[in-house]
Amino acid sequence: MIYKRSSELFAEAEKVIPGGVNSPVRAFKAVGGTPIFVKSAKGAYLYDEDGNRLIDYINSWGPMILGHAYEPVVEAVIEKAKLGTSFGMPTELETQIAALAVSMVPNIDKIRFVNSGTEACMSAVRLARGFTKRDKIIKFAGCYHGHSDSFLIQAGSGAVTFGTPNSPGVTAGTAKDTLLAKYNDLENVAALIEANKNEIAAIIVEPVAGNMGCIPPVKGFLEGLRELCTANGILLIFDEVMTGFRLARGGVQELFNINADIVCFGKVIGGGLPVGAFAARAEIMNYLAPLGPVYQAGTLSGNPLAMAAGLAMLQALDTDRAIFKRLEDKTAYLGAGIERVLKANNVVFTINQIGSMISVHFDANPVTDFQSAAAGDNETFKKFFHGLVAEGVYIAPSAYETWFITDALTYGDLDFTIQAIDKVSKTF
Ligand SMILES: *Cc1c(COP(=O)(O)O)cnc(C)c1O
Repeated sequence: MIYKRSSELFAEAEKVIPGGVNSPVRAFKAVGGTPIFVKSAKGAYLYDEDGNRLIDYINSWGPMILGHAYEPVVEAVIEKAKLGTSFGMPTELETQIAALAVSMVPNIDKIRFVNSGTEACMSAVRLARGFTKRDKIIKFAGCYHGHSDSFLIQAGSGAVTFGTPNSPGVTAGTAKDTLLAKYNDLENVAALIEANKNEIAAIIVEPVAGNMGCIPPVKGFLEGLRELCTANGILLIFDEVMTGFRLARGGVQELFNINADIVCFGKVIGGGLPVGAFAARAEIMNYLAPLGPVYQAGTLSGNPLAMAAGLAMLQALDTDRAIFKRLEDKTAYLGAGIERVLKANNVVFTINQIGSMISVHFDANPVTDFQSAAAGDNETFKKFFHGLVAEGVYIAPSAYETWFITDALTYGDLDFTIQAIDKVSKTF
């Protein structure tokens, strides 16, 4: 494949955009080379600026669960745009998507829309702090909740239980209110709670982790978090920005039958437009302004184009009840195929999969937390990534990412991908 125009466009972008990208992972730093510039996408395929076609396993990092340029979403956006693109006043559409989301997701009475997953998680934590009148939160190493200050925290050294900033610009004052726990390790969480009695407002977790590869919760982990939260007056926040409307109609709460106190959404809920949301039972949501004291706002929140796209997407998922099973079947088929060819080529690997999320780790050991995810062989991953791109298959340019399976992928596409992986893994 030729990337002449992509390379030229990247060089131009670098002059006026830091690193040439508006979100760092797009810059290919983890795999080397220069990013591919997209011209268009339809269904399961991306078409780049050099005329190459790629089967897409990122799908805008999750939102395009029905494939790119899904007609009902595109049509809804076009029709709405003709009626005006933003008012900063209420529209009926906002109530329609809110009512549908509340009907699809268990255990929520009210939902507020924002513009990104970052905003949703940031606002959920503020709400939890206001509601409990406590300051500290627990997050898990390797879980991503967007780029707001409270979440850009890494493990503190030695005896300190609080985190330290992992980006300049995050203050030590902010970092001291975020405690870092190990994913899938209940004892660790219990110890943190014990050491910070009556100080913890919330535990925020990706109930199925997707930002260190795909890491499902071990048996009892989510149940244990629920019990610890209930026993200690802590709110449990499920960050379902990735898993919401993907792993089940009602997300992980439905899938594992566990109630969170606040749930965050993003990605699929916006149908590919910039949307996030957070939701809870009325008692908690009524704590938000203008009803309650916790402030939260947005000039473009509930934007009509974004709501139209989100509503069309949710309606499609709500109507087609077989979709989540169909996605899971395709993903399991892909996983089994990858396993078959990697084994045949004597590659050391672990595959994690749940529903339409899957990740391939180049390490023999089980991948259950950040530490085990980080143990993967990144040199092999780089060869894997570039090899697959050359074959016309696009996966995320980082070993820490999940692949997202869309309904637009055919079994022919999956077979093509498995064959490409067979070919590429022979070169390791
Ligand atoms: C993508 C993601 C976010 C951040 O969402 P943005 O829309 O990128 O701000 C938060 N949490 C999880 C679990 C995510 O996957």
